[in-house]
Order: sequence, then structure tokens, then C-alpha cells
Amino acid sequence: MLKVGEKLYEGKAKILYATEDPNLVVQYFKDDATAFNAQKRGTILGKGAVNNQISARLFQWLEQAGIPTHFVQQLSEREMLVKRLQIIPLEVTMRNITAGGMSRMLGIDEGLVLEPPVFEWHYKSDALGDPLINDDHILALALATAQELETIRRLSSKVNDTLKTYFAARRIDLVDFKLEFGRHPADSSRLGAGRQGQLLLGDEISPDTCRFWEQGTKKKLDKDRFRRDLGDVEAAYQEMLKRVVG
Ligand code: 5GP
Repeated sequence: MLKVGEKLYEGKAKILYATEDPNLVVQYFKDDATAFNAQKRGTILGKGAVNNQISARLFQWLEQAGIPTHFVQQLSEREMLVKRLQIIPLEVTMRNITAGGMSRMLGIDEGLVLEPPVFEWHYKSDALGDPLINDDHILALALATAQELETIRRLSSKVNDTLKTYFAARRIDLVDFKLEFGRHPADSSRLGAGRQGQLLLGDEISPDTCRFWEQGTKKKLDKDRFRRDLGDVEAAYQEMLKRVVG
């Protein structure tokens, strides 16, 4: 039995706990929900369990497609065991259809198909509202190396292709999503000299971090129901769980 240790970090939607193994941590999913930089707060009943199960399934699917992730195993309804990461302070957004931040920034309608998909870097900072940045900002501020940026771009594009196909088979359009990557420092014997650690996909992939529109009806089945007070929030999360796991 794995012993769960001290709390390492508590975020808006998840808590990280130490384990006896310094290279592994437990990621616990809460029902707490925030939006607009935590100006809006609430609870989505059952969300933690849904996001844990959806993330676990998607991480396993992505691993099979050759994308390295931090996922080790699902431990319980709300907990998963993951590899410890030094999170790179960047949020990657991939967009297949216009919505949210891109529609606001450029003054365009939601629902326009983007071909090719749009890749964005955002600087991970709640205080600044995760501003859009480019490669030059990242390199000049040494947030990541050129090689890491190249790898993250390649992996993100592969994640998009893999998940678009996965959700299309479940009659869901993957509108956009956010990814976070980190460096796993474990197992120094497998790392070459000067290597900073293996780059892994981290965080979660869930209705909190993706936009999902039901094909045909365009019904939103994601956190926009909470952000925009659309109602039926819990039902939308349960519906996504059914589509992903069922
Ligand atoms: P937007 O930039 O349009 O607000 O977000 C694009 C996509 O990334 C959406 O699917 C959204 O859920 C996700 N996303 C972007 N930033 C964040 C964030 O800070 N937290 C969460 N949970 N999702 C985010």
C-alpha cells in the first residue's frame, strides 16, 4: 500500500501529496471550480472524480500513441499517482475552432474552423492572467530551451491529432485545450550529462482544460457551462465521463 505523505502544493482544482518515493507524487482532484483568474468561484459536484477518470484514460491513450506523460496509475476515484515534475511556467493552447480567448483577442465569432490548428504559448501567471507570449520571450527569459520548445510543439501537435480522432469517434468536437509540460528529474542513470530531465506532459486533460462541443447540437460539455452560467454543469461533466470511459 502506498503511503500518502505531506501536502506539497494546493492549486485551484488539485492538491499534490508526497509519497515515500521522492520521484512520485499523488495528484488529488477537487470539486472546486474557478474562472476568470479566480474572480468567480464555485463547486461542481463530482467534478474531481470525473476529471481524474477522464485524465487517467486520456493519459493512457496518449502514452500508447507515443507521448510521454507523468501518469503512472489511477489510485482511487479522486487520486492518481504521477511522476514528480518541475513544471515549466508555460501553458500551451491548441485551437481547432475559434472560441474563448482567441475570439475575444481578435474580435471574431466562435465556431470558425482553424486550419491549420493554432498553437499558442502563454506565460503561466495567475497575477498577469496567463498572457500570450512568443518563442523569443521564452528564450530571452530562459523559461525553456530551444530544444524543449521544439519538443513541446511536436508533442502538442501529436496530442491534438490523437485526441481529435479519439473524441470524433465519440461524437465530440475538440474545440481547444490547454497543456502543461514539466521536467522529470528521476533516474539519473538514464539521463545524459547536462540533461535537465525528461520532458513529460503533466497536469490534467479534462472538461476543465478543454472545450468539448457535442457534434450536431454544438452543446457545450465543458467548463464554459460554469464560466458562462449556462446551467446543467454537473450533467455536462457526467456526460463527458460517459463518452470517454463508457
Ligand atoms: P482560452 O484561452 O480560450 O480561455 O482557453 C483555451 C483553452 O485552454 C480552453 O479549453 C480552456 O479551458 C483552456 N485553458 C486555458 N487557460 C487555462 C487555465 O488557466 N486553466 C484551465 N483550467 N484551463 C485553461
